[in-house]
Parts: sequence; C-alpha cells; structure tokens
Amino acid sequence: MAFAAHAPEGPPPTITTVLSPLLLLLLLALALALSLDVIFRRTLFPARGRLLDNVEGPLYVNNKCINCAACSSFSPSVFSRNTDGNYHVVYKQPSSEKEIEESRAALAACPVAAIRVDHIKHGKDNDESTYAYAYAHDHQNELAINPKFNGRPHPFPRLVSPNNFPNDVYYIGHHYSKSFGAFPYLVSSTTSPSESAKSMSKSWIMVDTPKYSQSAIDTIESITGSNGPSYLVLTHVDDTADHNKWKNKYPNLKRIFHSGDLGPVYNWIGDDSLEDVEILLGMKSPVVSVSDLYEKQQQRLQLFDINGNPIENDNDNDVVLVHTPGHSPGSISLLKRPKKSISNDNSEYEYPGVLFTGDTYSYTTRDDGHMTGFPRYGNDLRLQSKIIPLLLDLDWLIIAPGHGHVRDYTATTTTTMTSTMTSTATAKHNNDVREKEMVDAIDELLHYSQN
Ligand code: SF4
Repeated sequence: MAFAAHAPEGPPPTITTVLSPLLLLLLLALALALSLDVIFRRTLFPARGRLLDNVEGPLYVNNKCINCAACSSFSPSVFSRNTDGNYHVVYKQPSSEKEIEESRAALAACPVAAIRVDHIKHGKDNDESTYAYAYAHDHQNELAINPKFNGRPHPFPRLVSPNNFPNDVYYIGHHYSKSFGAFPYLVSSTTSPSESAKSMSKSWIMVDTPKYSQSAIDTIESITGSNGPSYLVLTHVDDTADHNKWKNKYPNLKRIFHSGDLGPVYNWIGDDSLEDVEILLGMKSPVVSVSDLYEKQQQRLQLFDINGNPIENDNDNDVVLVHTPGHSPGSISLLKRPKKSISNDNSEYEYPGVLFTGDTYSYTTRDDGHMTGFPRYGNDLRLQSKIIPLLLDLDWLIIAPGHGHVRDYTATTTTTMTSTMTSTATAKHNNDVREKEMVDAIDELLHYSQN
C-alpha cells in the first residue's frame, strides 16, 4: 500500500511555533551575556571593564587589576580591596588636594593600567557634597599623570617617609607586571662605590626593578643624575624583570643577587642571565637552613657589605645586605642604617633606618591589616618564621617591602620631622610595637606551614 511520501504530521507551523525557538535562543544568549558580565565584574553598558564594586564617579579600577596593592599603598583613602579581597577598587572618589595627588601616584604606579578616569561626567555639576573636587575642577585633567595637562609635578620620585627625608629613600614608581607589581626604590649610600676606590662618595642603590622606559629613566636620573644608580639589589627571583635592560642602560651598574635563587627549581622564571650578575651572594658563605637556625650559636643573620663581602653587625657601613631566606632560599634584604643629623640648636637627631625586605616581611591590609610574610607564596615558611624575629637585631623603624604596604613605625609615635628625635622612651615604644606586630606574621607563617 502506497502512502503520500512527504505528508507532514500534525498541524502546520504558526508564527508562534517558528518564533519560540528563536526567542529561546535570544533568552539563552542574554543569560550567557549577563553571566559573563557578572563573572568579569563589569556592567553591560560602561566600557573598559569597570568593576562593579567601584563607588560611583569618574575614577575607577577595571577588570585588569592584578591585586598588587600599589594603589592602596599610595592612596589609602581612595583605593581599597573589595570585600572578598580579590582585587582593588575605588571606594571613595578623591575630593581633596592630597587625595588628588595620591591618586595620581596610584595611576602612575599601576603596573597594568587598570586605573581609569571616565570621560563622562556623573552626578550634578557643582554638587560639592557628592563629588566635591572632581567636577568643579575637571577631574580628568587634574588626575592626569602628564604635567602638561595640569602643571602638577610627575608623581615620582616621591619620598617613602616624609618624616625621614634626609635619609634619601624614594619610591621610583613604574611598577612592572612581570615583577608582579613590586615596588622599586632608590636609596643613597656613602659606602665606597668600589673595593678599590679610596674615597667615600655618595652613590645610589636601586632596589628591585621598575619597568624599563624613558619615563622611568627620567624619574631615576632626576635623583641620580645621568650616571644612574651604582647598584641594583635584586631581593629575590620574582622581582628581577628587565634587570638586563637596566644593566645595558647603565654599564657600570652592579647587580646584586643571591645564589640561593638559582638553579632549575628556585630560578623558576628560567632567567639564566641571573647567574651572570656582578655580585652573586652566597658563594662566599653557606646558605642558612632551618637546622642552622635551631643551633643556638647560628641564630643570627648573615650580613654582607654592598660589594658582597661577609661582615659582622658591628660595622659602620651605612647600608648592609642581609640574607633573609624563607620566602625563597636566596631572598635578601637591604638595611639603610639610621642617619644622624645636627639641628639648628645643636641637638642631635637620628633619622630612622629603613629595611627593604622584598617578600620576606610586609604590611598587608587583609583581615583588617597586619604584618605578614606572604605565607601563600613562600617556599620554606618555617625557616621564614625563624628569620623574621632576627630582623629585630637590625636598626630600622621603617619596613619598605616588595609588595603590600610600607610600615612606618615613626608614624606610630610621631607626626612631624622634628619629633622624630629618638628618645629612650620613644625607642622602647617603637621596639615594643615592632615586636608585637611580628607575632602576627610568625603565627600566620606557622599556621600555613602546618596545612
Ligand atoms: S595598582 Fe595593582 S591593585 Fe591597584 S588597580 Fe592597579 S593592579 Fe589593581
């Protein structure tokens, strides 16, 4: 029996049955777009990936943020971690001269250009209660980094501690994403620039590397002159990007690195050129291990002069290299000792020492703020927990880390330059605070080492 071969079954399609799959597809596409929008923390309409947690207003952080904390370090009243701590956002629009300046520093330092200024005005003009300074003064121009737009100076170099300005310690800015946004610094020394040099003269030491650029060169040379720095201290393998470019720029530059961060395991970035630095520490003395530190007589830090020669703590060098293993086997710190000065009334002032710690020891804003050894990223947390208390043997009141925030203990008791004069009571107070805050970092390291 023959049937009509192509006779359709059921009723003929209507406009509704044709459109429903299309409608469904449309809805699915919209749902997908919304989900992606939430995942990447951007609204569908504002451009450039503005994160949803930013407060309303022209200054914002976008979804390129790598959570390096440089912005909140330079501009703590404007930038902050978001509530789950995975990135930074603008939580208050800058509204004072100080906040504008600090925000410009954050903009200039951000290693991935994640901080943006919106061209579109939000809110009402002249509404000072909402975005006070911003709209009355053309926010975009005021925040521009380039001085030609607003006549302001370039945000860098800037002093690490205004209380400590005679001790010559500067932020360079120009943080580099390949060094995970680490802070580069510039610090002076009157140590002899070479072992053969007879006279002492002022030289400059760069601590960790800024991104190589003409702007960074201009910043550095505004302090050092065209000869640039004499030394480059590479605190550990993570923060070494562009070291060869800086060496090519300044042929007399002596790079300092510790051999503990060499080899296939610890030189994890695979940069074999680090083996060829001019001063390789650890070749003249053994690398400290946990078992060394359990031996009481070994419980002291290994120190070197700036040319890499092992020294004792009772030397009179104004800068000292310190082996501070734990975060990595070859982690080193640089101590800039206190500087004495005479005031107009002939009294003696002592400007505090600064310890550049790389990733060994820092201040973090996580969990309401505390000192930390970055336990999530360290190599030997138990060793690091033994090294940190030994830092109290060194004469410093300011921690200048590779990541996180500077911790300035002069600010815990003093606010003006003149009141930084060291008295016995102030010194004891500061030492107590330093010691107390270390406990948090040590406990945290030991806690993570057990997990
Ligand atoms: S400075 Fe660092 S934390 Fe701040 S926005 Fe840029 S990448 Fe994010």
